[in-house]
Amino acid sequence: MPSMVAGGGFKFKMADWEDEYNEAGVAIQTPVVKTTLTEWKPPCNDRQRDNVTFGVRNGSRFGAPREWRASDRSDGEGSEFRGRRGGDEGRAFPHSSDRGGPGRRTFGEEKSDSSPPVTITVENALVGRVIGRGGSKIRELEENSGARIKINKGDYEGEVLIFGSPDAQQKAKEMIEELVEGGNSGFGPCLGRGGDGGGGDRRATNGSCWSSAEIKAGNVAPVCAPIDWKDIRENKDKYEEMKWKDAPPLKKKFYIEAKSVSSLTAEEVTEWRKENNNVFVDDLKEEGEKRPFPNPCGIFLEAFGLYPEIMENIDRVGFVKPTPIQGQAWPVLLSGDDLIAIAQTGTGKTLAYLLPGFIHMDGQPVPRAERGGPGMLVLTPTRELALQIETECKKYSYKGYKSICIYGGGDRRAQIKLVKGGVDIVIATPGRLNDLQMNELINLRSITYLVLDEADRMLDMGFEPQIMKILLDVRPDRQTVMTSATWPAGVRRLSKSYLKNPMMVYVGTLDLAAVNSVHQTVLIVHEEEKKSYVFDFIRNMLPDDKVLIFVGKKLMADDLSSDMCLQGLAVQSLHGDREQCDREEALKDFKDSRVRILVATDLASRGLDVHDITHVFNYDFPRNIEEYVHRIGRTGRAGRSGASVTLVTRENWRMAAELIPILERAGQEVPEELVLMAERYEKHKREKDARDPRGGQGGGGGYRGGGGHGGGGGGWGRSDGGGRGGRDRNQNWGF
Ligand code: AMP
Repeated sequence: MPSMVAGGGFKFKMADWEDEYNEAGVAIQTPVVKTTLTEWKPPCNDRQRDNVTFGVRNGSRFGAPREWRASDRSDGEGSEFRGRRGGDEGRAFPHSSDRGGPGRRTFGEEKSDSSPPVTITVENALVGRVIGRGGSKIRELEENSGARIKINKGDYEGEVLIFGSPDAQQKAKEMIEELVEGGNSGFGPCLGRGGDGGGGDRRATNGSCWSSAEIKAGNVAPVCAPIDWKDIRENKDKYEEMKWKDAPPLKKKFYIEAKSVSSLTAEEVTEWRKENNNVFVDDLKEEGEKRPFPNPCGIFLEAFGLYPEIMENIDRVGFVKPTPIQGQAWPVLLSGDDLIAIAQTGTGKTLAYLLPGFIHMDGQPVPRAERGGPGMLVLTPTRELALQIETECKKYSYKGYKSICIYGGGDRRAQIKLVKGGVDIVIATPGRLNDLQMNELINLRSITYLVLDEADRMLDMGFEPQIMKILLDVRPDRQTVMTSATWPAGVRRLSKSYLKNPMMVYVGTLDLAAVNSVHQTVLIVHEEEKKSYVFDFIRNMLPDDKVLIFVGKKLMADDLSSDMCLQGLAVQSLHGDREQCDREEALKDFKDSRVRILVATDLASRGLDVHDITHVFNYDFPRNIEEYVHRIGRTGRAGRSGASVTLVTRENWRMAAELIPILERAGQEVPEELVLMAERYEKHKREKDARDPRGGQGGGGGYRGGGGHGGGGGGWGRSDGGGRGGRDRNQNWGF
């Protein structure tokens, strides 16, 4: 947290950077600038500062925002978010119902309150007001109204669900509305929530979140001067310039296109891309004319003819030809451009970035011995992946480059020793690397080639703050590669922040053939109705049916499977928190049909290969549409037909527009409610973008990876109705 320095200013350590965001969720890396270039006066006195909302952060994981206040850090509140970090966590935010304190009912018990929940939509920037410090406000609201309150945060706004008797609901609704719309309510000036692009209705023309009338009426403490974000941003650039002015020269271009490549006709190039997994390429440069995308290299020699050592390595392992991603990535990377590779594990993506990285390091004007640190950094989400990359690195060893794997849970001391001994390539998970960086145990200034591997998973695991801090010490004119299996808003935002005019290669394959053999039913339901839907489904199962039920959280997998157990059903659960032996047993029970119901999270279900699954039941909607396709592809395998049932709640509204074309393409019924949901979200997004033009990249805008690949895109504007509504409780479940 910020610490006081002589003269009353705050001194921000690097650790504080993670928490400075503007409304669009874009990091404004400013506090260091303030303290470095000018003395920074605290905007408030200490007492006020305790009440100040410093910033609201959008997009900690796939756009799921997170909120904190200045005072949170000192009382350990911040750790709550860390504790919640996990691959398959959902989007629910900390609130009193989650905590389950003494005498508290769990969410599942809300059913007894009879009335359906009342829903209020609250701008994300204001959700913190409803939650209060450590959940204090939400508790107070619950106690004073007698209602139960649940908050789900979305990309732009939070959904406040109020449960209880109609009177209690009404009372809570009024209190929340007053809290959100009304005066100060104990909340200080919202420093940081403005930014020049932000702005809820509390923003006033004076650039502060206080209206002139409020200031005149003396409702605010005059010492709290508004933050001049423009000034701060300008200083940030100056600071960056100062910080890197002594950086050694950097070379990025190492490519001479082979004659056989430059002589390819446009038709031949198109044909090659079509034949190579339909690889899709694009220039994501934002301004000016698009650059021509380099022609692909169909053979290794076309990419590495100038680098015999690399060719020897390839010959040694006996690969026949470049994979699609390699054929298109190598010319881009050897030309010195940044690259986004949308590709899954198994596509050869590691070698796609490693080999150009070797050449890049070797080609730097500053000799290796004088560099004072590693030249290549690969950030990766998990220890397993880090080790896998290191194995690849060692397999193709080049010029005797030394690599090291730095990951949490590994021997920290040994890792430090290895770093100190001198390494060329660092393969690291963000948490541990950030730890070494903060303790000045590793020099990152020498890095000129950066890889953000599996960016979507890193975001998913909550690593964005660490990545941001790490990259503060990596020179901004480096060459950057980002890989991701998916292309959601959070990854697009990350790419905009850390890559410069990138090219994109997309080889993600959606198994649409599998999807076509699955009868897909989509039901629009309320969150609290989900359990009765799944039990209804199970009651209707035939003896030979086998269902895989997907949930969003490990906790939900446990919760649902234990509910089923209690009802005498034979069920197993599969998720990342279970011991390996239990997971294996669960899978075996399901494969051998000892149980016919398996409740699983996405994390555990990857690679699940059970041929006779007749149904997939999406209890929670997946995080992205690719995952949806992946999930329903678990049934309808090996020539069999399958069926899927997907529950969609209001919380999933941003996914509706992406789900519709998938259903349409497979000739499935599209519920009218889903179409309406998509339209509502589009309208909401348009309104939001109109209010906040700078935030336009957040929700499906920006650069999508080209129609026809991602299964997303437009085309959802179905107007013929005809879809079956989702509320028919006498469902035909497709048995
Ligand atoms: P990756 O997608 O990077 O995890 O790579 C998956 C596997 O493909 C690794 O075992 C690589 O060694 C292998 N591989 C990489 N490039 C090629 C290639 N051009 N031909 C055949 N296998 C490859």
